Amino acid sequence: MKMSFVCPGCSCLCDDIEIVDGKILHACRRGEEIFGKYKENRAKPMVKGKEVDVDSAIEEATEALKDSENIAIYGMDTTTVEAQQHGIELAEKLNAYIDDNSSFCLGEFVEAILRKELPTTTLEDVRDRAYVMVYWGANPFHSLSRHMSRYSYYPRGAKRPRGYEEDRFLVVVDVRRSETSKLAKKNAMFIQVSDDDELVDSFFKVVDGKAAKYAKEAGIILNGMKKSDLNVIFGGLGLKYGLKDLGKFVEMVKKLNEVAPVYFIPAGFHGNMRGFNETLFEKVGYVNKYSFRDGKSGGEFAFTELLKNEKIDTALIVGTDPVYSLPFEVSSKLGKIKTIVVDPRMSFTARIADVVIPSAVSGVEAGGTMVRSDGVRVKLEPLEEREVNDVYILNKIKEGL
Ligand code: SF4
Repeated sequence: MKMSFVCPGCSCLCDDIEIVDGKILHACRRGEEIFGKYKENRAKPMVKGKEVDVDSAIEEATEALKDSENIAIYGMDTTTVEAQQHGIELAEKLNAYIDDNSSFCLGEFVEAILRKELPTTTLEDVRDRAYVMVYWGANPFHSLSRHMSRYSYYPRGAKRPRGYEEDRFLVVVDVRRSETSKLAKKNAMFIQVSDDDELVDSFFKVVDGKAAKYAKEAGIILNGMKKSDLNVIFGGLGLKYGLKDLGKFVEMVKKLNEVAPVYFIPAGFHGNMRGFNETLFEKVGYVNKYSFRDGKSGGEFAFTELLKNEKIDTALIVGTDPVYSLPFEVSSKLGKIKTIVVDPRMSFTARIADVVIPSAVSGVEAGGTMVRSDGVRVKLEPLEEREVNDVYILNKIKEGL
């Protein structure tokens, strides 16, 4: 029987991965590494640099959390929704702060979708029906390798049988010539912006028939959008950091919808970042940087700010590597507090942690649910089951408090 696996490597969550005679089929390079090299560089249970057994590491972590006053739980974008639920309950029980990578990635776009301010659709609908597709501040060539081939530009869809040759209109908006922008040749357009707000402004003006900096480009795009019952904007990190005002962008999408149906899908890359956003949103009404003590979300509760301002004495970090990804002046603060790491790999953060608890690789050694960038929930079956996974660890800590 042919069996397909879901790759947890990015928010595409490709569900067509096959392993035949040890060969990994259909995955991109990152996906191949996830399935082919998951046994490498594994974390070992450690307490203060000494190897211990897993239960002792979990006990030590529990005691450290009991003795702490200001705790942040951070990460969980690569684990399952089921583990995220335990992590959030743990944060609630500890009156802690909780945050993930989305606070400096695409969390605010996801929040606007969950608040129904931005209209959204599924990648299957994009594949089947979308004509104009705008990659705005996103370079899927690098971050979401199979996005264009599985869901957007290249596939032939039910209502788009001639695919990219005739049935798609690709727009790439970026501050520089990215690899994705080089695909914008036939039925396509590359808009090089120095200020994303000027393009936002141009769409407003062109809908109202006024002159604008990007009037020609916006006019062509709007005419294309009118030909279809579905058009999509994929927004990436470049859009997040290019916009001065997300509210104005949201208004622009509404304005475009006066002319043609236009939807928004975030183009972020952590496998289950949206799962974290949705799970926290269901519980507290916010997607990230939340303080259970204060009962609200705010920039001051972002993990980077808590570290920078020395607001926490303990960090529980799950499946992410802030020592690798955050600026040194921020991540170096981890050395001054108690750090507990739950991770399958011996990450840079694990190397400086007081307690390391090795866990299963979600999606490879542990099953569960993840949420694709468009909000579709996907079930993951493990290749081989490992009992000590994030659900087990976080639940055990929670019960031990
Ligand atoms: S595109 Fe993403 S989900 Fe698909 S195989 Fe590559 S890493 Fe995995």
